[in-house]
Amino acid sequence: MRETLSSANVDAFVVTDILNVRYISGFTGSTATLLVDSNSIKILTDSRYMEQLAQECPSATIIQVQRNWTKRAAELITDAKYLRVGLEYSIPYRDWESLNLLSVETELVPMESPINQLRWKKDDVEILAIRHAARITDMAFKHVLTVLRPDITERDVAVEIECFMRRSGAESEAFDTIVAAGPRSAMPHARSTNRRIGTGSLAVMDFGARHDGYHADITRTVLIGTPSEEQQRVYNTVLNAQRTAMEAIRPGVSGGAIDSLAREYIEKSGYGAYFGHGLGHGLGLDVHDGAILAKDSRIILEAGMVVTVEPGIYIPGWGGVRIEDDVLVTENGYEILTHSDKSLAVR
Ligand code: ZN
Ligand code: ZN
Repeated sequence: MRETLSSANVDAFVVTDILNVRYISGFTGSTATLLVDSNSIKILTDSRYMEQLAQECPSATIIQVQRNWTKRAAELITDAKYLRVGLEYSIPYRDWESLNLLSVETELVPMESPINQLRWKKDDVEILAIRHAARITDMAFKHVLTVLRPDITERDVAVEIECFMRRSGAESEAFDTIVAAGPRSAMPHARSTNRRIGTGSLAVMDFGARHDGYHADITRTVLIGTPSEEQQRVYNTVLNAQRTAMEAIRPGVSGGAIDSLAREYIEKSGYGAYFGHGLGHGLGLDVHDGAILAKDSRIILEAGMVVTVEPGIYIPGWGGVRIEDDVLVTENGYEILTHSDKSLAVR
């Protein structure tokens, strides 16, 4: 990060995104700001976190502030006589405004946070946390197959998944579990309702566990009963698109190229109009950690990146299919981290 900052010609950098704060400092609380320069890290937060900070960030300088951190930060910036200080684009506007008013001697430079890109590539400890989250997520899918029946509601399926993950050691669910059956499965980010799953209906389940701050994210589409010819055809198209894309994952290939492999497969099968979203995203401290496998993404894959591969076909009024797995880019190719069964018909 310091290399990037010195080439951007800034003397210090203010980190306000709480996940970036965690990534750089190890602090797991919900409120803090970092001021990083070439030889120090100062962490500004309120009295609630003093004890936690002493444990989690022993090498940082801890600075206690009241609710608004900008006044103290401006004093530190002025005292250090920094000429240019970088800020993350995502800084709240009122903090930016206040900091700008108070730091009259210093030029404040809003910029893309160098930490966002650093987070794409995971080290061994991070990969271990994601593996653990993926394992819990797989166990939850196995469990949910035992409770699926035609009269269970979407909401109850979601509750089963979430409770199971918590009981199995997940810190929390990675995001609000999506369970969407019948025509609702055509909405990629539907909310779970009191609709019953029924027989012969496509049911999309998208969920994941969080472990030590890191996420897993999986989607399975299932159907109780016997699928129609078209349901099976759409399902196989998505499955083959996913396999085609995954098999091409290796260091040196662009995210956009992987996205096109799946997209072209779906287009050739005649469903191109029904696949609107990107193929996959980075996975890490955030569920969406960079739009890595997206249309026109120029991001070059590197060993250590973890991405989802999740093609989908969504036909309004008819239903949808999405299949999503988590994939680690390795030195020689890829490793799939989620192993849940991929049969469409479950009963
Ligand atoms: Zn998902
Ligand atoms: Zn996803």
